[in-house]
Amino acid sequence: MTAEIIDGKAFAAGLRAQVGEEVAALKARHGLKPGLAVVLVGEDPASQVYVRNKARQTVEVGMASFEHRLDVATPQAELLALVERLNRDPEVHGILVQLPLPDQIDTAKVLDAIDPAKDVDGFHVINAGLLATGQKAMVPCTPLGCYMLLKERIGDLSGLEAVVVGRSNIVGKPMAQLLLQANCTVTVAHSRTRDLPGVCRRADILVAAVGRPEMVRGDWVKPGATVIDVGINRIPAPERGEGKHRLVGDVAFEEAREVAGAITPVPGGVGPMTIACLLANTVTAACRAHGVDEPK
Ligand code: NDP
Repeated sequence: MTAEIIDGKAFAAGLRAQVGEEVAALKARHGLKPGLAVVLVGEDPASQVYVRNKARQTVEVGMASFEHRLDVATPQAELLALVERLNRDPEVHGILVQLPLPDQIDTAKVLDAIDPAKDVDGFHVINAGLLATGQKAMVPCTPLGCYMLLKERIGDLSGLEAVVVGRSNIVGKPMAQLLLQANCTVTVAHSRTRDLPGVCRRADILVAAVGRPEMVRGDWVKPGATVIDVGINRIPAPERGEGKHRLVGDVAFEEAREVAGAITPVPGGVGPMTIACLLANTVTAACRAHGVDEPK
């Protein structure tokens, strides 16, 4: 039997619709309009696409979108001054600085300058610490999206073996924290892990966040496991014409779907969840800022 395909695109559309309803209710009941500020430094083509999509979807759910596009040569002090202004702006409830930043800017310094209460990306050390200690945090959007897909598909995750391949601060580590909080037995694997295939084969829940096209093979997957593929890799696709590319995940999808119980496709799996969770986090931030009940 082939695996159930987890339709992240449909789930994300549902989540956006729900956020839209919450925004309408906040306006009607409290006169509150959540606002998201997105800052882009430079003209990285992928970042420009992300920022455009974020702004469009923010407006679509009825929130205020504030876009700040800065020149690639912007000095760090100028970016920090903008972040400070946004921290003080009462119409801005969420601040997102699009990564990667140009070389002259210290990314950690900028992320740490964002008010943790407005840190809708969840990258501030305060939010990482709150998450790690099981307190109310802003949770990074991509792992939050993965977690929602897992809850939707599995329900109670208690006692399940979860393996997260990748230990980045933005995906792997927060993903592991969320699974731990959900009472999974969590293994975090990385480039120094011995016998990675064997470790992966233990997993009831396998999350791949590596950035290596189709690295996780079908025979690394435990029969019936739920596989969440975070990877977004652009590879050459000469079969589509000269110079053409296609997107693949970190999991060899065709092989894995023969073994897994459920799997996210790339594209159309985790990807669409990220922006939907960003919008949800912005509503949460707005509610917390105004002492209003947060959406469940
Ligand atoms: P990073 O490059 O920051 O981290 C990659 C992790 O994978 C590291 O922990 C690294 O280990 C580990 N790794 C690399 N090679 C191997 C290997 N051969 N075996 C085992 N582990 C390995 O990546 P990110 O976490 O930022 O992103 C991961 C993937 O997710 C990328 O494809 C990215 O494009 C995608 N992504 C998708 C998003 C979405 O919206 N869907 C959002 C963010 C990312 P070590 O620490 O030892 O170096």
